[in-house]
This record gives sequence, structure tokens and C-alpha cells, in this order.
Amino acid sequence: MGIGVYFSISSLIILSILTYIFFSKKRVDNIETRLYGRILLLTLFGLSLEIITCFWFVLGVSLDNIAYHFASKLTASYYMIWSSLFVNYLINICSIDKNLKKVFNLFNICCLIFILILPIVYETTKEGVLPTGPAIYLTYIVCLLYAMLDLIICLRYRKKISSQKFTPIYTLLGLGGIDIVLGVFFPSLFLIGYVYSLIVIIMYFTIENPDVKMIEQLNIAKDQADRANNAKTEFLSSMSHEIRTPLNAIDGFSQLILEEDNIDVIKDEAKDIMIASQNLLEIVNGILDISKIEADKLEIVNVEYEPSKVFDDLVKLIKARIGEKPLDFRVNIAKDLPDYLDGDYTRLKQIVLNLLTNAVKYTKEGFVEFNVSAVKKNKVCRLIISVKDSGIGIKKENISKLFTKFERFDKERNLTIEGTGLGLAITKKLVDLMHGNITVDSVYGKGSTFMVAIDQKIVDKKKVKVADAVVKKDNKINIKGKKVLIVDDNLINLKVADRLLLSYKLVTECVSSGFECIKKIEEGNKYDLILMDDMMPKMSGVETFNKLKKMDNFNVPVIALTANAIAGMKENYLKEGFNDYISKPIDKKELERVLKEFLK
Ligand code: ADP
Repeated sequence: MGIGVYFSISSLIILSILTYIFFSKKRVDNIETRLYGRILLLTLFGLSLEIITCFWFVLGVSLDNIAYHFASKLTASYYMIWSSLFVNYLINICSIDKNLKKVFNLFNICCLIFILILPIVYETTKEGVLPTGPAIYLTYIVCLLYAMLDLIICLRYRKKISSQKFTPIYTLLGLGGIDIVLGVFFPSLFLIGYVYSLIVIIMYFTIENPDVKMIEQLNIAKDQADRANNAKTEFLSSMSHEIRTPLNAIDGFSQLILEEDNIDVIKDEAKDIMIASQNLLEIVNGILDISKIEADKLEIVNVEYEPSKVFDDLVKLIKARIGEKPLDFRVNIAKDLPDYLDGDYTRLKQIVLNLLTNAVKYTKEGFVEFNVSAVKKNKVCRLIISVKDSGIGIKKENISKLFTKFERFDKERNLTIEGTGLGLAITKKLVDLMHGNITVDSVYGKGSTFMVAIDQKIVDKKKVKVADAVVKKDNKINIKGKKVLIVDDNLINLKVADRLLLSYKLVTECVSSGFECIKKIEEGNKYDLILMDDMMPKMSGVETFNKLKKMDNFNVPVIALTANAIAGMKENYLKEGFNDYISKPIDKKELERVLKEFLK
């Protein structure tokens, strides 16, 4: 019996203990660890096979015995499979192309089939009986090839492999080499299985220890949590600044209005309050858009629109934003834009507005150039929009981070410029959703150019119903005198909704809780529509609505009117059975749409 078998027996004992410990511990669930588990089990199996065949031979098995022959082939296959699993392990830690993995696995299967088919010859030497022949030679060649592949991968991907991970790889190559040399002089000293077990043990103590891996994982998770926490703190502080700025205007002008008697001055200041409220709403909408993007709920709603009108509106808006700033605003809107397009013009406006606002914000003097051209092909129009400025520009290293949320650059230089770092993240997402393309070209200190290309369907003029005409016609709908019940615990909100509805000459009633609402219905009061806030103390809008639904003959349309506008809320309210949803602050157009639909 060769001396090698004693090595195999001792390895089997140590590996059995190690395997027990490995599988009884909580492990990180990744492909590397799973592969290591397989290598461990395979090594145990191979060692057992080696020992069994060795004792079997000593007990005097005939070399013609088919079972013994098969066991020898299994042992050869084990050497090959072990080497291939190790290469696989390396392919995974170096994240090598999946296609290579497929080719490699195919090659493995072919080699395995050949090893099983080709014959083994038993050669009697002075040292004893040695298995040789084509199957064994092929095994040696494949194992040697794989060892060389290990070396090539190590050298090629040395940057990806941490220094710790080199230990088992170099051990394999070093011990494998020694084993081959020893094998030449002492053929009966069969040490491959022993070398494999040593590597598996070294792997356990260097790179595959479940405890160490768990700690590494926890550290990564902790780093991520710290980074998220810092981003949140930064976001909250910048938000609080952002929100305070328009609030300051609203608060300041409201106080002035209270002390002012001149109606013209009051109107002027009320306009400023409106602008500040719109700024505030923009900030809140930005946060909502980001929450929708993260929940994958941002949707593109295509309608027919007039592109020239959309761009003219944008020009007016930006002119107002430029105000007194010494900027030359150059506008080149192509004259050959189609009269009507089909697309989400609200989101298109949002995209261009973000780019133009940034150009104005980040340019102290010089120019802002707004170009729109169209390339028409068949029934599709490619809108090519570029916004160029002579502003502060963006450093090369920041361009790739430009579309990441909360990223703001040159913080010291831009201290006085308001911003949340959300605009471009939202812009990019919207462009992607519209299957468009956005590019940036910028020279730090000189200026930037943002280019957007979006395809929109061309609509035949005859097909279009002009939106404005519809609104004008709808305004004539007689809803005068219809009864609306408004339910909201906040008196200011009640007042705003009541004022807005009174402008349509509706008859309104206001109650400040769900209980009062139910009482009104129980008392037999008849309404044409109920506007229901949700977040009310004691009984929420949803609870109130559920109680109303259970009442006999209750068939009044109920609209959720709530400031709860985060991603997916509309869908939730509709699922609860509400007839529609309006978010606060109330958009007059939205309100009109709902009144038109339910009070006609
Ligand atoms: P915000 O403007 O609210 O900070 P954005 O997402 O719109 O957020 O922009 C992210 C950052 O990109 C800005 O903070 C600014 O540093 C930089 N940036 C965007 N547009 C321009 C521009 N036209 N010129 C220079 N820097 C810009």
C-alpha cells in the first residue's frame, strides 16, 4: 500500500471536521461560498474514493474487476472536476465574462466524457501497480491545462483579486508542481488528493471562513448604511434651506398684505406669494418624482399637443426667471415643427425647464441659448433640443455623476445658488422613459451644452381636438347650484377648497371630521359630490368612506382630496373605491376636470 494513502486518511479526518464546521455555520449566500461548499464536498468524496480503491487493491481485487475499474475512472474524473471547480471559483471572484464560463463548462463536459470512455491500463512496476493509459494521461493534461489557466487568470486579473486570495492559488501551483516532480521519482506516492485537501484547508483559513466573510459583509452593509445616513442628513439640511426660501417670501409678503391698504400693492404681493408657492410646490414635486422613480411608478402619459405652444411657454417662463440677470437669452425654435405631436408634453416641458433653469442658475453673465429643431421621418418627429450657456461649466470628473440624485458640485462656489441636486436625476429618468437620449458637453469655467433628442409621433391636424377649446366649452357646463360636501379637519384647507368651489357657484357645506360627514348623510342630506381628506384624527378619510359605502342607498361620488401624494397613493385610493383623487395644493385644472366629470 503506497504511503500516499496515509496522507489521504489524515486529510479525510481533518476535512470531515472542517466540512462539519463549515456547513453548521451561518454563511454568506453568494456564488463563491456555494462553489467552495461544492469543492469541500467533492474533496471529501474524492479522498474517500482514493482510500477505498487503495484498500480494495490491498485486499486483492482483480484488476479486471469492472467495479474497481469504474472506481479508478471516478477517481480520475474527481481530479478533473476538482480542477475545473477551482477554475470556476477563480472565474467568479474575477467576475469574468459569462460566455467564457459557458465555453469552459462545455469543454469540461467533453473532457469528462472522454475520461469515462477512454481505457485505463494498469502497469506493474517495482513500486507496485500504477494506473496509466489514455484516460489517466488525459486527466493529467487537463489538470495541467487548468493549473496554467489558474495562473493566467491570476496574472490577468491580479488587480481584482485581493492579496489574501492569492494564497490558495499559489499554494495550488506550488504544491501541484512539487507533486508532479515527486510523482516522476516515486510514482506510488500518489499525492494529488492530498494537495487538493491542503488547498481546501488553506482556503478555509484565508478566504472562505464563514465568520470572516460574515464580518466583511456586515462591514460593507455598515458602510452603505453610513453613506445613506450621511446623504439623508445632507439632503434634509439642503431641503430645509430650499423650503425655507420660498416660505420666507410667503410669510413675509402675507404679513405685509395684512398691513397694506393699497389694493394694487396687495395684488402685486399676492402675485409674489403665488410665485413663491409655485417654487415650493416644485421642490415638493421633485421629491415626489424621485420617490416615484424609486418605486418605479413614474409614468409617461401621451396626449396630443402643440409643440410650438409648449416651447413658447417655456421661453416665457425662462424670460421671467432671468429677470434682471445680465444674460442674453437666444432662442432658435425651428419654424418647421409639426403642428401637433403625440407625447407627454408635461414631462417634455419638465425636462427642458430643468435644463433651462440650470443654465440660468449656473450662468452669471453671458448668454443662454435655447435651440429646438426637428427631423421628420415617416410619422415620427425627432425633437432635438439643446440648451447652451456661458456659465461656470462642469469639471470632467463630475460629468459622470451629473445624473445621480442629490449630487451638487462646486458647493463653495454655488453656495448662494438654490438647488436640491434632484433636477438632472429626474430629467435623465424622464428622457429614458420617453426612449430619448441626453448628452452633456462642458468646459469647466467656460460653459455647458445639454442636448436632448426625443421621438414623438406626428399627428394629423384634423384628428386633434384642441385642448383649450374643450376647456372653454366645458366651462360652460352648468354645474351651478350642485351640492358639494367638503370633509377636512384643517380649517385653512376647508376654507381654500370652499373658496375654490364657490367660484363655480356651487353650494358647499364643510365639516371637520369623518363623524360629522356620516351624521350629515344619516340625517338624509343629499349631495352631488363629496371631497374627502384622508389624514384626519380618530377616523381617517378611508375609514369614513368605508362606513359610507355600507350605508343603504349611498351612491354619492367621493373624491380623495389629500396631501398624501407620494408614489402609488393615487392607485391606493382608487383601489379603496374612491371615485378619483386630487392632491393638495389643489390644482385648479385638476379640480375642474373632476367637477366636469362628476357634476355634469
Ligand atoms: P440642482 O441644480 O438642484 O443642484 P441638478 O440635478 O439640476 O440639481 O444639477 C446637479 C448639479 O449639476 C448642480 O448642482 C450643478 O453643480 C451641476 N449643473 C447642472 N447644470 C449645470 C450647468 N448648466 N452649468 C454648470 N453646472 C451645472
